Amino acid sequence: MIEEIRALKEEKNAVILAHNYQIGPVQDIADYVGDSLELSRAAAATDCDVIIFCGVDFMAETASILSPQKTVVLPASGACCPMAHMITADQLREVKAAYPDAAAVCYVNSTAEVKAESDICCTSANGVAVVNSLDQRQIIFVPDGNLGKYVARHTKKEIIPWTGYCYVHDRYTPDEVREARRLHPKAEVLVHPECRPEVIDLADYAYSTSGMGKHAQKSIASEFIIGTEVGMLYRLKKENPDKKFYPLSEKAICENMKKTDLGKVLLALQTLEPQVKVSQEISNKARRSIERMLAVK
Ligand code: SF4
Repeated sequence: MIEEIRALKEEKNAVILAHNYQIGPVQDIADYVGDSLELSRAAAATDCDVIIFCGVDFMAETASILSPQKTVVLPASGACCPMAHMITADQLREVKAAYPDAAAVCYVNSTAEVKAESDICCTSANGVAVVNSLDQRQIIFVPDGNLGKYVARHTKKEIIPWTGYCYVHDRYTPDEVREARRLHPKAEVLVHPECRPEVIDLADYAYSTSGMGKHAQKSIASEFIIGTEVGMLYRLKKENPDKKFYPLSEKAICENMKKTDLGKVLLALQTLEPQVKVSQEISNKARRSIERMLAVK
């Protein structure tokens, strides 16, 4: 199957992107492994005709927005991010009407329609810098309430967070952190900013997945407790074979991220279906929010 995938990838001039939360065999076959924005930028920079995006719906949409001339395929049809769907463009318009002086910032984990309705996007890595770059004092932050609260603690601006959440990160508890530390007293605890504030308070660092990757490589520590989706541990172990990584919880599994397997990647290359397309009008507006974010240093 791997040989067939490689041959078809050449034939169709395709690039395979895999999010850090994908299963190991999918990460191994991919040309790029990373977080959603790193992957979309990588895809936009290549001269491929086809993007096979092993991830969830909003990521494939973002790739399509940044590369409208390319064919974007999401191998696992129906792989969606529940958090991205916790706010609609209509709901965001209502909040904007209630806070007319506020800027609207949306996490990239959002639908194309919500990105189009926002002033600027952000990632979990650059949320604070994006918010601080804006002139407005009040900031509507959607859809992730936990990330909104994290940003609020690191800026002087007034953050108005939406109430969305990632069910994978939101269910970590302080007791799990305490227990993991008891079991692995020498390990550094790295958690994602999508976790609850009381969990972040007990960790050593809060990082995006790309930040976790960089930290694990440069840290002098040799053991780490990882508070994000368990797929990330595959990449961390592969890149740091001499270090040890423990999941903060074995139950931190994003079901939608696990819907992609090699069979679906092969089928996606054979059929170039199911494709993800964003209408030109939405795409143009959403691209403005993404490009504005990319300009923030
Ligand atoms: S891990 Fe959370 S934020 Fe990421 S795709 Fe799954 S539900 Fe969405």
